[in-house]
Amino acid sequence: MTATIRPHTFRPRDLVGGHVVIDLVNTVTARDAESVDWLDGYPRLLEWAALTGHFAPADLTALRRLAESEPDGAERALARTRELREALHDLLTALIRQDAPAPAEAVERVETHWKHAVARARLTFHGTAPELRADVGTSGLDHLHHELALRAFDLLRELPLERTRVCPGMRCGWVFLDSSRGGRRRWCSMATCGNSAKGRTHYRRKQADDAGPGPQ
Ligand SMILES: [Zn+2]
Repeated sequence: MTATIRPHTFRPRDLVGGHVVIDLVNTVTARDAESVDWLDGYPRLLEWAALTGHFAPADLTALRRLAESEPDGAERALARTRELREALHDLLTALIRQDAPAPAEAVERVETHWKHAVARARLTFHGTAPELRADVGTSGLDHLHHELALRAFDLLRELPLERTRVCPGMRCGWVFLDSSRGGRRRWCSMATCGNSAKGRTHYRRKQADDAGPGPQ
């Protein structure tokens, strides 16, 4: 993917994927047109991570300090997070299209990131349930990259494929999990893509009305 990198202040409405890993994939928008990458630096990745609520504030503070002392290392960690994101996008959209078997190239890319993450992860227990979790102490600036790779594996293992969609909105292309009761959600968000599609339909109808019944 060659996306234009553009600064963006993340807002709650940018987190509509239904899973933190899908929200990472959606930090690129307009994939159906000219892709725009909203992660314009490591601090932006931290801003996004804080908004998701999935990462401990103390870890994000530690990462901010690390990034300030190692800006080049932070840029490289961001580049690896972007690579993970693109590998996940390619794999998820192939799964949604029901490409079978899943494309080996995308699977291998995700596998590579996941193996790096596992190598640095810590095994913890939630009660009696084991969990692999990334740790700032062992992952350093790659903490978010590793944690997201681990969570990507969790997502892929339980992906409800019949409810995983790509938004057909113009200049969107976001992936989302449809958790609506009826399972008929079409848009990433009614407030954005749904409404603008309704608006376009309305506009087209209005144009047709204004043109009158046409020549007899
Ligand atoms: Zn959309």
